[in-house]
This record gives sequence, C-alpha cells and structure tokens, in this order.
Amino acid sequence: MKLHHQIFLAMVLGGLAGAATSESTRLLGLPLLPAYDLIGELFINALKMVVVPLITTAIISGMINVGEDDNLGRLGAKTVVFYLATSLIAILVGLVVVNLIVPGVIDGEPAKDLLGLAKETDQALQSIEGRGAADFTEILRQLLPPNLFQAAAETQMLGLIVFSLFFGYFLRTLRGAPGEHLRQTVEGIYQVVLRITMVIIRFAPLGVFGLIAATVTRTGLDAVEPLALFFITVLLALALHMFVVMPLLIRFLAKRSPWRHLQAMTPALLTAFSSASSAATLPLSMECVEKRSGVSNRTASFVLPLGATVNMDGTALYECVAAIFIAQAYGLDLSLTTQFVIVLTALLTSIGVASIPAASLVAITVILGVIGLPAEAIGLILVTDRLLDMCRTAVNVWGDSVGAVLLARSEGEEDVLRRPMRELDADPL
Ligand code: ASP
Repeated sequence: MKLHHQIFLAMVLGGLAGAATSESTRLLGLPLLPAYDLIGELFINALKMVVVPLITTAIISGMINVGEDDNLGRLGAKTVVFYLATSLIAILVGLVVVNLIVPGVIDGEPAKDLLGLAKETDQALQSIEGRGAADFTEILRQLLPPNLFQAAAETQMLGLIVFSLFFGYFLRTLRGAPGEHLRQTVEGIYQVVLRITMVIIRFAPLGVFGLIAATVTRTGLDAVEPLALFFITVLLALALHMFVVMPLLIRFLAKRSPWRHLQAMTPALLTAFSSASSAATLPLSMECVEKRSGVSNRTASFVLPLGATVNMDGTALYECVAAIFIAQAYGLDLSLTTQFVIVLTALLTSIGVASIPAASLVAITVILGVIGLPAEAIGLILVTDRLLDMCRTAVNVWGDSVGAVLLARSEGEEDVLRRPMRELDADPL
C-alpha cells in the first residue's frame, strides 16, 4: 500500500479508536489516552529532531549548488511578495465568507449569550498571557539572533535561515582544499539527515493514528454543535482558498496540474492536519515538494522553511473569520474601518504566529484588543479550536508548497510536476 493511503487509513482508524475511547478507558488495565499521546508525541518529536539539521544543511547545500550568476536576491524578493499576496487573498476570502454567512448573529440577535464562554477560558488566557504575537520589529530581531544555538533550541527558523544562507554563500566561494572538504562534508551530512527523515516518515501512519485518536478522544465531535455555523464558515472559506484560489494560481501562473500537486503533497497535508504544527511537518513538506513535485533543492530549501515560519494562509484567514465572528457575537458595529483594521492586523500577526498548535489564539486576542473587545471573548471559540487548527495548518502547509511550485516555475524550472512521482518510503539504505 502506498504511504499516503496508509496515512489515510491510519487517520480513519485513529478516528474510530478515538470515538470508542473516553479519557478514562483502559485496555488490559492500561489507560488508552496516554498511549495515544505517547505514540503521537514520539512521531512529532522525531520530526522536530531533524528540523534544525535538515533545514540548515538543505539551505547550505542548495547555496553550494547554485550557479555563478544565479540571482538569489531576486528569488527572495519574489518569495516575500508571493507570501504576502497569498496571505492577503486568504484573509479576503475569509472576510467575504464571514460577512455573507454572519455566523455570530443567530435569529437576528448577537450570539454571545447563547453560546457562552468555554469553561477553560481563564486557563487559556493564562497560557497566552505574556506570549504576545511577535510584532514586526520582533520579526526583524529574529533575523539576526545573537545566539545561534539558542535560536536553534527554540526552533526560531528565521535566524537559522539567514545564517545558513551566509554560510552557504561563503562556503561556495571558498577556494582550495578546505572549501572542497567542507562542501563535501555538508553534502554528506545533508544526505544522512535525509535518510533519517525518510525512516521517520515511514512511521507517519503510526504517528498519525496516535495524534488523531488522542484528539478525537479529547475533543469529540459533539463540541462542535453549538458552534456549527462558525465551524462551517471557517471550513468553507479554507476550502475555497485551498481548492479554488490556489489551484487557479497553479493552473494559470505555473501552467501545471493542481491535481497532480495535490496528490504529490498528500503525505505532508495529512501530517499537517493530524499534528496541527507546520514546523513539525516541514521535513515531510520538503521531501514531498522535492521528490514528488519535482521542485529543485535550491528553491525548496529556501522557500519552504521561510514559508513554514512566516507564511500562514490558513491561520491568517482563520484569524480574520474568528475576530469578525466574535465581533458579530458581541454585537459590535463592524464598520468598514474596523474590518480594514482586522484585515491588516490579521496579515501582520499571521507572519509572527509560531508554527505550533493553537498559536493563532494569541494573535486573535491581539486583534480583539485592537478592535476594543475583551480578551475573554476568545472563550467563544475555544471548543472548536483544535479541529479548526488541524484544518488551517493543512492550508498553511499547502500555501507554502504552492509557493514553492510557483517560484520554481518563475525561475524557469521545467521539471516541476512533470517528472514521475517518487514514493517517500522507498528504501533509504
Ligand atoms: N497550528 C498552526 C500551524 O502550525 C498555527 C495556528 O494557526 O495556530 O501552522
């Protein structure tokens, strides 16, 4: 069975297992929920373990292999423009859908009292407190970390990307034996880390089973009911962005088949969905984009790590829909200016949001503050957060991968989505 079929099956089985389990269920005396958690966590930890060595060596090796007159500055500028533009499009899609459906008003009344705040609101606020979404100056600061190891330890990828770009650039120009040796060493490390990554990816079905089973056990689908309209609004907007807007870009700008790219990315998308973390999914996205979509290592190793850090279409869209929903539910007057402020804040905060589960909540409280609503209002949407987090994370990863395809095509790469798709679980040894 192909890997993505295995992962899909694991998701279904995980869902069924989760539905049949409650938080206290035991099997042969062993509690099941901690067992699901352990399986999921081991998989995520393994992926995170390779993120730092993988992105640094991938970027350096990409830099070593670029041609003499290759203009990387141009690729960088195009990447930033693409990411900003698609995040903005995503937010606007969300804005239109939430204004059409108006999920925050039920039978003509603002829905606040009907819905009530979730029990865990205080707890959630405490965990958010002091975290603040990175603002623009903070992002600039992260570009030059004073301590590289600390940046690596905190998986602050921006600093690592910048350092690796410098390192690769100067390593490429280093003449003589030391340069040659070091280039071969870095290439060697990269190849080894890739093989480790492939072994981890083989365990994706198991990891995904654990992640989904644990989520379904904890959340259950009943939680969604009172918020069904909000839930549907978010899903609809995410689906429009993922299945209509982005495919149109692939079709008309990259002149390739969006369907083919979707197939190529399935393993990464399913993992993003199950883990709700685009940072942890990065090793898989890189493998899928290079091996299955045929994007060069030079483009993928630059565009994807940057994308996983700063480009979050799903998150940006979600922030906008959630903030407007809450405002509707509180009966706030949503003038054009307020909506514009929400769009702008969503765009800026989506860049600073960390690529980990539930990270958007921080950004949403920031937006609520800007439009004059109390932070507790976040309690309205806590129940559905995990399920929607899974969906928006898949859209985040999809957005980055579409970026890689488009940018590769704009750099004249002909192989993209043309070469036969390779399986990720091919024997690495
Ligand atoms: N979980 C999302 C991600 O990792 C971020 C968020 O929207 O909370 O991409």
